[in-house]
Amino acid sequence: MKIKLLDGSVKEFDQAMNIRSIAEAIAISLKKATVAAKVNGRYVSVDHVVEKDSTLELITNKHSDFYKVLNYTAAFVTGAAISELYKDVKLAKVLYKEDELEYGITFEVEPRIGLEEIQNIQNKVNQIIKNDAVISRTIDLKEAEELFKNNEYQKHLAKEMFETYGEVTIYTLNNTTIILKHAIALNLKLIKVIEVQQLTGEYWLNDSDNIMLQKVHGMAAESIETLDAKKAILEDRRSRDHRIINKTLKIFGFDHLVGPGLPLWMPNGTIVKEEIKKYLKEKEWEYDFINVTTSVIGTVDLYKKSGHWDHYGEDMFQPFNGGSGSDEQFILRPMNCPHHLAVYKQEQRSYRDLPLRIAEHALQHRYESSGSLTGLERVRAMELTDSHIFVRPDQVEEEFKSIYKMINEVLQTFNIKIDYLSLSLRNPEDKVKYYQDDKMWDEAEAALEKVLQDLNIDYKKCIGEAAFYGPKLDIQIKTAQNHEITVSTIQLDFLLPKKFDVTYIDQNQEFKAPIMIHRGLIGTYERFIATLLEQTKGVLPLWLAPNQIQIIPVGSEENIEYAQTIRNYLKKDFIRVHVDLRDERLSYKIRDAQTSKIPYQLVIGDQERKENTVTYRQYGSEEQVTVKLEEFKNMIVNLVFNKK
Ligand code: ATP
Ligand code: ZN
Repeated sequence: MKIKLLDGSVKEFDQAMNIRSIAEAIAISLKKATVAAKVNGRYVSVDHVVEKDSTLELITNKHSDFYKVLNYTAAFVTGAAISELYKDVKLAKVLYKEDELEYGITFEVEPRIGLEEIQNIQNKVNQIIKNDAVISRTIDLKEAEELFKNNEYQKHLAKEMFETYGEVTIYTLNNTTIILKHAIALNLKLIKVIEVQQLTGEYWLNDSDNIMLQKVHGMAAESIETLDAKKAILEDRRSRDHRIINKTLKIFGFDHLVGPGLPLWMPNGTIVKEEIKKYLKEKEWEYDFINVTTSVIGTVDLYKKSGHWDHYGEDMFQPFNGGSGSDEQFILRPMNCPHHLAVYKQEQRSYRDLPLRIAEHALQHRYESSGSLTGLERVRAMELTDSHIFVRPDQVEEEFKSIYKMINEVLQTFNIKIDYLSLSLRNPEDKVKYYQDDKMWDEAEAALEKVLQDLNIDYKKCIGEAAFYGPKLDIQIKTAQNHEITVSTIQLDFLLPKKFDVTYIDQNQEFKAPIMIHRGLIGTYERFIATLLEQTKGVLPLWLAPNQIQIIPVGSEENIEYAQTIRNYLKKDFIRVHVDLRDERLSYKIRDAQTSKIPYQLVIGDQERKENTVTYRQYGSEEQVTVKLEEFKNMIVNLVFNKK
């Protein structure tokens, strides 16, 4: 048989062999280093016998699946420990969450076990990895059903696996046997540490109609050092998670009765959002955009005409009727393009009117699946910094470059760290998602690619990521949770203007279709502010901070009055100041201003009052500086003006 390896080389063997022996035949060191393998894409253990021509990936510590194998193994070991410790345990499913670097295994046991048992489980796990080994075996469905006649979860998994592979792989550790689709390491000595961390609940198959199982979570690694490094990564991610940061900054909230994914912008969040909006509107002024305001609903016919109905149907809130007895049907808009096309059509435009840049920071709604909702990062009600720019064919390039420049300036103002730029193209094989017109697509994609090359910027081509109406350039960033998300986007569209019969009169008095460019300047405020909170770790710059200055008066009543005077004085210049009058100790107030990440803290006493000065401390600095009040005000006004 011929075995094709990942590097493209082919090895020949004259008999069936297991993975361990194949690894050994390739290199002695590989035998020890291989923890599992993938044969023709299927995960198998090192005992698996290969009988015919196959492609083979050996999973060693250099393979991207190494931790997956380790953690699946650890999950099984933990399951086995629980089975040995308690009576009549039914193990269900093992899993590994790559983003959270943790494994889990669900199980059912009566009575349920409590958190205080974690140490017992941990001790048993430690004993197992030191002394025991796993055996793997392949059986048929009948045998599996007999073997698991008292465990409906394993029976379910057996059926599932049999349907895919025509056989069932079982793994046994002491007296515990389960089915695993994902291969695990048989030699447990490879895992140096398993840390059992948490007990929670999870519905079987994540379906709330099913029984709530218990779930034990943990982490595993090949050394204590790597485990510690992984924990540090997790801790850093947690501290940057915008949902965690929000607990102190109070930017947004949710209420289950209002509805999941429908954010409540709290007073602090509203300040941040409005400040950003002011700035973006100035930018739009600079780049000659005009603003419009349109309704958040439109008729179903509008979306049938645009194609959104066909291409986007399931992700929209479903149609609703007008007044009672009316059969008019409306939709909560998932995007604003059709409304802006309608704005364009209010007048006959000429070639001299183009580019026409219609902007609206517009509310839109999408029925995102409940499992995908993530704080402000993915919501169902959102405000998009939207624009539709209508251009003549000879203007596409220049306009695209100008939009790109504008987006860059804006993202730089916020110091947003971009992960990469994605040139999102159609998948020509996909005849359902994309509007079928190869000539149109080829033209649009070539135009976009040329601009990117002219601009000399690096991008990744992402096939199948285009919108149904055209290719796009997406600005991608990585969230604290390691999600890849789009913030800003520029999309070329040769299609919708034609569908809506949108025209301009050219120099020869002929009607022509303009090209439309969709532009999300910073995407939605929701996602952008989530990003901003994560990238700044909640330390917002002065110009965006909801509370810019915290004044802490000490001593006499007169000093409190002076603090109020300072506040009123600064307020005239639209500076956001708060005087801390709580009945708390000075040290507490100072610490509190620090944890709330307030950019400037003023401690005001007799001396400051008498000399008309302030003593300030900037967030993150130990230094205290005393200056005249007026000088302080000028400094702050200046910083805010320069978006610092
Ligand atoms: P995604 O692939 O992230 O769902 P999309 O490609 O459907 O987004 P567009 O239609 O291009 O997104 O929307 C424009 C912008 O709106 C995105 O770049 C993103 O910033 C933002 N956005 C899209 N969906 C959501 C959402 N559910 N919650 C918050 N922001 C969103
Ligand atoms: Zn659009």
